[in-house]
Amino acid sequence: MPVTKEQVIDRLRTVNDPELHRDLVTLNMVKNVAVCDGVVSVDIELTTPACPLKDQIQKEVQAAVKELDGVEEVGVNFSANVAAASPQQRAAKSNPLPGVKHIIAVGAGKGGVGKSTVAVNLAVGLARAGAAVGLMDGDIYGPSLPTLLGLDQHKPQMAQGNMIVPFEVHGIKTMTIGKLVEPDKPLIWRGPMAHGAFKQLATQTDWGTLDYLIIDLPPGTGDVPLTMSQLLPLTGAVVVCTPQKVAQDDARRAIAMFRQLDIDMLGVVENMSYFIGEDGKEYDIFGRGGAETMAQEMGVPFLGAVPINMALRANSDAGNPTANFTDDPKLAGELDSVVKTLAGQVSVHTLSGAYVQPTISIS
Ligand code: ADP
Repeated sequence: MPVTKEQVIDRLRTVNDPELHRDLVTLNMVKNVAVCDGVVSVDIELTTPACPLKDQIQKEVQAAVKELDGVEEVGVNFSANVAAASPQQRAAKSNPLPGVKHIIAVGAGKGGVGKSTVAVNLAVGLARAGAAVGLMDGDIYGPSLPTLLGLDQHKPQMAQGNMIVPFEVHGIKTMTIGKLVEPDKPLIWRGPMAHGAFKQLATQTDWGTLDYLIIDLPPGTGDVPLTMSQLLPLTGAVVVCTPQKVAQDDARRAIAMFRQLDIDMLGVVENMSYFIGEDGKEYDIFGRGGAETMAQEMGVPFLGAVPINMALRANSDAGNPTANFTDDPKLAGELDSVVKTLAGQVSVHTLSGAYVQPTISIS
């Protein structure tokens, strides 16, 4: 008896998405099955092009389908369609950015921990994986993106209807207040002005259709996160933290702030985690693992560690984040791992919500 498509689909029901803990058929990830003389081809649509577990899914699909008598070869073809936040979540507030599937804030308890650097590399890494990505400089007091993205020679343009056209660099769309005001001008905002500046950047930039919009927040727990939480339906927030105790204390406050604003925590990144010397030894300058422990204690996923890396600093100063992913395979691997873990968390967060049954408590 030749193998049928139905038999293959039945086997695929035994393969769970490793993060979503439901089978690929139920999750509607199997888009096509073709069978020809013992050669099976399966098309799987992932929930993000930056899927951290693609290889594992491929192996498990092949193993499951090969158990059928008569199957000699199993080809797995991947595509990706970023699963948008649930309709309820998107409609929960009047959404000024309906074309954006996920808005992710990147915050930190204090300045100088590498929040903007991490935000830039998350955005560029997601774009390199194949996603449509925007990066907004929400740090209206100290915008770093003109430097980190090398925007010196770029001039802002107005599109129709008073919208600003975002810059397109390193595969992402981006906008920053730093390119809309004179350089070196102090950015002093009273509360309502800060609110207005943030709102304009978010809603008057012509972001178009995006899978992910990353927002680089100012450090600390000021006005801007409050404005953001009232204005935008966020998928969640990432907190960047260095390992030292003082940094952890401030990061805990940032996490508590997001929770108070009803913004889910997607994870913590430990930046400047350790340093690899020329002797090849790893030096735990700031106490490697401190931010990871803090994340565990706060019940927040840990997205990974980025070591102190001179090339990362130099590429940041030179406005060339793409080089972080092309020049040094070790650095690229470390950044990619954080990018993929975040993308996985976004999918888990989105799709687990879709399958959670409402619980009714009767008192
Ligand atoms: P924040 O946004 O938290 O104020 P930045 O992202 O502006 O911090 O980073 C502060 C400085 O530290 C920048 O010069 C940046 O290039 C550097 N930096 C950030 N992370 C690293 C790292 N992992 N290795 C080396 N330098 C880093």
